[in-house]
Amino acid sequence: MKKHLIASAVVALASVACQPATTDEIDQLIAKMTLEEKVGEMTQLTIWPLLQMDESGIVSPQRLDSAKVYDALIGHHVGSVINVESYDYTPEQWMEVQRVIFEIAKLKPNKIPVLYGIDSNHGANYTKGATLFPQPISQAATWDTASSRLVGEVTALETRLSGIPWAFSPVLDVARDPRWPRFWETYGESTALAGWMGTSYTQGMQGTLVDGRIDREHVAVSLKHFLGYSASITGKDRTQAWIPERQMRQYYLPPFEQAIAAGAKTIMINSGDINGIPVHANKTILTDLLRGELGFEGIAVTDWADIKYLFNRHRVAKDYKDAIAIAINAGVDMSMVPDDLDFPKLLVECVNEGRVPMSRIDESVRRILQVKKDLGLMEAQSAEDIQSTAGEVYAEKHQALALDVAQKSLVLLKNNGALPLSTLEGVMVTGPTSNSLIPLNGGWTHSWQGNNPELANSGRVPTIAEAIEAQGGTYVASGEDIELWAPEVPLRAFAGKTVVVAIGEWSYCEGVGDLEDMFLPEAQYQMIRELHEAGARIIGVITAGRPRNIRDVEPLMDAIVWAGLPGDFGGQAVANLLLGTYTPSGKLPFTYPRQPSAHITFDHRPIDAMSIAAGPSGYDGTVSFGPQYTFGHGLSYTTFEVEASLKNEVVTDELVVRIAVANTGTREGRYTLPIYYEDLVASIVPSVQNLCGYVQVDLQPGAQEVREVRIPRDRFAFVGVDQKWVVEPGDMKLKVADQEFSFTLE
Ligand code: BGC
Repeated sequence: MKKHLIASAVVALASVACQPATTDEIDQLIAKMTLEEKVGEMTQLTIWPLLQMDESGIVSPQRLDSAKVYDALIGHHVGSVINVESYDYTPEQWMEVQRVIFEIAKLKPNKIPVLYGIDSNHGANYTKGATLFPQPISQAATWDTASSRLVGEVTALETRLSGIPWAFSPVLDVARDPRWPRFWETYGESTALAGWMGTSYTQGMQGTLVDGRIDREHVAVSLKHFLGYSASITGKDRTQAWIPERQMRQYYLPPFEQAIAAGAKTIMINSGDINGIPVHANKTILTDLLRGELGFEGIAVTDWADIKYLFNRHRVAKDYKDAIAIAINAGVDMSMVPDDLDFPKLLVECVNEGRVPMSRIDESVRRILQVKKDLGLMEAQSAEDIQSTAGEVYAEKHQALALDVAQKSLVLLKNNGALPLSTLEGVMVTGPTSNSLIPLNGGWTHSWQGNNPELANSGRVPTIAEAIEAQGGTYVASGEDIELWAPEVPLRAFAGKTVVVAIGEWSYCEGVGDLEDMFLPEAQYQMIRELHEAGARIIGVITAGRPRNIRDVEPLMDAIVWAGLPGDFGGQAVANLLLGTYTPSGKLPFTYPRQPSAHITFDHRPIDAMSIAAGPSGYDGTVSFGPQYTFGHGLSYTTFEVEASLKNEVVTDELVVRIAVANTGTREGRYTLPIYYEDLVASIVPSVQNLCGYVQVDLQPGAQEVREVRIPRDRFAFVGVDQKWVVEPGDMKLKVADQEFSFTLE
């Protein structure tokens, strides 16, 4: 009965218009709101407590239960809803969800619309049939900020086609430890590259802001996870980090700072603790740094259940109410609760008891309403007004972009001349990750863990095996399990054959991907050894979200491609690379360790790379930094020659470098050339190299391109003894390909 009444009320009120809001109007609105309405705005629920249930659980296909939505929105004034429950929805299903929420929100005392958020991390990955791009670690391997922006644009559009205006990406954590299970959600180990890629993506997602407004084809981003999430000591998800302020500012802060300067609307907080203080309880980070220093004016939303975790996981609060007071006073604006309504009730009590000042509440509510206004929600008349109508999910040009980025993301790690192949006729393909879309996409794909084969886009895009078979190759099943090597043909069938062997990881997300061991399952090494012994020519294709150890089998492979997590179009991209239809151009955005415990980044200190041997002559250092593949490594089928020269050797404002790149081979190709510098003497121990820029050129055989790269003086800055960025005058070295140049900073 109640449901029926609500449904009629929804229909009756469908034509009541919400009024557009100006900033003054936001203040007036806040003045009219009760405390309950205000804390409701700060409350974010996940969708599952709002879904229809029967005795067996959530009803399928999933549908909102209007009575539950009514209770949340009208009874508790909930201002934000997120996510899906365990499978992706069609745009139509999404719109049904949005409509119910939108119409019920109109019944709120002040008719404030709900802000719906979703994890769109490599495309609109919770929209059925959406275009699935490479995951960020693979996007980073393209070193292509223009592509990153385009991926952001399409991801935003395909998300908005479902009426959803807020996405929880990009991940701007800098992943300097390859054990970390969220490594693949990042742009890799370089702070500079993560900043460039992440800022471009942010601009693509949010579009050009006019008076701070985001149009209907774009979405608000959520930069995450602020701050220092990736630096856990154990290498495991959400575990403690100890980060000195200098390191925090030098390595982990800059990508956030840049994306905030580019207008990012929201930020999500790190679930872990740093130096013993959970970030959700850390006022120095959430208020002094984020607001005071960075001037961030948008919404700071918690991560999943993180206020509760302050008492039942971190134990810095004695109960939930205590935790709420700590988090809100530290600077949290919105709590991803996510599945009950205790938060608003307890926050009201905190305010009434004087534990949280009303000014703190008003500040958060103002930020939330401002983002709702910037997204056009306040003036929308219907859910359709929030939905984009410009284009379609999985448009042909979106697919073309996904294939293009997937191709550009593939890194040719090794090639002893085996590649490219002149034909795939007679080529065999096997290995546990060869015939599924799941290891190509990883987590955040149709579901949180991305591991439901029924939800994969099977049949629509080829797996690696299918793409090779389509060109005349033969797929040999091997047990379809990353822990198994059980080929369906005898080993002698591989003798003398070219065999594409796809190895790596299955999909995982967050703590599910925690590791004790950087080695792959033994069966995968055994497979390569046996194929080698059988006389096969092995082309290894690694699909994995982090650099799992290949030390012992690397010499047994004739060529190796790091495919990372290239998305739905990865299978086609790999086949194109094998055939040379596409000349590989990806460059590693991380250092690929050779030894399981040698996690040394490209910008290490000289001493990090030395073994001090106490020999007869004293402490002789021997260089021990020998990763499997260096940061920036990536081979091509063509050859390039680089000639660089400095235009100035004394830098007052900028260093100008002339770089000529010539394609001296026989194939068209793309060349990405990182530019590094080394500070020779500094008050803080300098790194052996730092990334300060790069050039990227697409060249026909025989062609040459000359670029003048301008490197501003502040790129040579570091965080000094007083924790402030400083550029110290002195002698430096610039490293371009194998050439080195001396210059002096004034
Ligand atoms: C993850 C976030 C994600 C959120 C909502 C959390 O567990 O850490 O990255 O945005 O869930 O799904």
